Amino acid sequence: MGSRDGEIIVARVKIDAPELTEYVEIPVLQEGAMAHSSPFVAKPDHQEALNFPGELVDDWHDRAIAKMADLNKTSRSFSLFLDICVHCGSCTDKCHYFLGTADPKNMPVARQELLRSVYRRYFTFAGKFFPNLVGAKDLTRETLDEWHSYYHQCSECRRCSVFCPYGIDTAEITMAARDILDAVGYGQKYDNEILGKVLKIGNNLGLPGPALKATLEDLEEDLEDETGLPIRMPLDEKGADVLLITPSADFFAEPHIDGLLGYAKVFHQAGISWTMSSYASEGANFGMFIGNYATMKSVAERIRTAALELGVKRVIVGECGHAWRVAYSFWNTLAGTGHGAAADDKYAQMLQKQLDPRYPAPQHIIEFTYDLMQRGALKIDKSANDHRTVTFHDSCNVARGSGMGGIERGQFILPREVIKGVVNNYVEMDSSTMYEETLCCGGGGGLLTDDLMELRVKGAMPRMNALHKVFEEEGVDTLAAICAICKSQFTKVLPYYKMPMDMIISVHQLVGDALVFENND
Ligand code: SF4
Ligand code: SF4
Repeated sequence: MGSRDGEIIVARVKIDAPELTEYVEIPVLQEGAMAHSSPFVAKPDHQEALNFPGELVDDWHDRAIAKMADLNKTSRSFSLFLDICVHCGSCTDKCHYFLGTADPKNMPVARQELLRSVYRRYFTFAGKFFPNLVGAKDLTRETLDEWHSYYHQCSECRRCSVFCPYGIDTAEITMAARDILDAVGYGQKYDNEILGKVLKIGNNLGLPGPALKATLEDLEEDLEDETGLPIRMPLDEKGADVLLITPSADFFAEPHIDGLLGYAKVFHQAGISWTMSSYASEGANFGMFIGNYATMKSVAERIRTAALELGVKRVIVGECGHAWRVAYSFWNTLAGTGHGAAADDKYAQMLQKQLDPRYPAPQHIIEFTYDLMQRGALKIDKSANDHRTVTFHDSCNVARGSGMGGIERGQFILPREVIKGVVNNYVEMDSSTMYEETLCCGGGGGLLTDDLMELRVKGAMPRMNALHKVFEEEGVDTLAAICAICKSQFTKVLPYYKMPMDMIISVHQLVGDALVFENND
């Protein structure tokens, strides 16, 4: 990778980042500006590991329509969201990919239309008999290619749905389109390859148990060097109180790893026994990104199996945006972790009996740390972070797909309270880019792959614009986040916008750095 000011060359392809301006402006439309952007197609072994056809099947047309019919029957939101759009236009300028690329097909309503026009043709009376009158279109090979391209230019961030008067969620439509593509053997390499590794080995990296154990032992040594204390990184310890499910990026990537060290320091200081699992060593669940319920369930069930085998009383989720959404919103029906577990699922019921009802199931690491801070159970010296001026990025899946602390808007309040509890210098970005309206980092929803680098750089522009303002005007030098994808994406794209790549850190790095241990007194 080479670099010049404002532009970076990745694998010999030069990517020019959009200019940052005072406020993000609605771009002049550039028809087809991103038509060339399409992720690598999954190879047969990636597809078959998930029980999808290895490659595009000969009868793809009929299978795609059959899959749509199936979704029409099984998913209420599928037909509802495709039926009720009135083309009011409220969502058009709300997508970061549209704002960053100027491609009109990246307007949420236009993205929906790629699927809606085909749905109309085959599933509505008017579309069957008067297709031209209602904009209904046949499913062609060209359409299928367009789906592969533009449904991989949506990070499923759900920002557009906040502005839709009908609450239409384009992310759900993107998920359905990806599900159809997988069903005909036309999946995406990055997501499906990763899912195969989770289902076979237990994590997105394909890191086997012994390698994970060795990594954690090295980290224990680092912690002892730093604090002089035997702070543990336990793995597969039966009878521990807490099972920590964290994204595997926490085991090896920067800045994630410093967040993992922060969790370990919190557990140590609180005196709570905990463990990680080599069988379920992944918090991420890309099954949601590809819109496939069966895959999402298989990944989630590994966590239930680990929790049952280890006999833990609590399950805590580390810093990962979509992992928390899956855990908070779907684990109850997927795996029985949480209220509403299926009454006829014997393992879900076993887990319900095993978990300690005094704690939320599941619980986010931010909720856990916040609770300890409220009870005065952590010894904190905020001045340890005085060399930093910090801002916080709300991650999409936490902001628009979950809650925290059992209180209204807790997903916004708790992370900020934790940060403000460990730093003295905190600044907010423009509120129209935060909270419910937060802007995607540009790499979410299964798009964090180098073959989509141009999209990622351009899609990051609106968030970078807001960040650059506080960077220049308020001296912000640290961007904290609670999402593994956001952390990886920001590390890559910050230099395109002339900000340092190491300004992105984990919230639990801030916490860990501020904890005072006896040997440091
Ligand atoms: S869900 Fe997010 S990425 Fe997808 S169309 Fe809406 S705003 Fe764009
Ligand atoms: S805001 Fe909703 S109803 Fe209006 S165009 Fe967008 S999706 Fe359709």
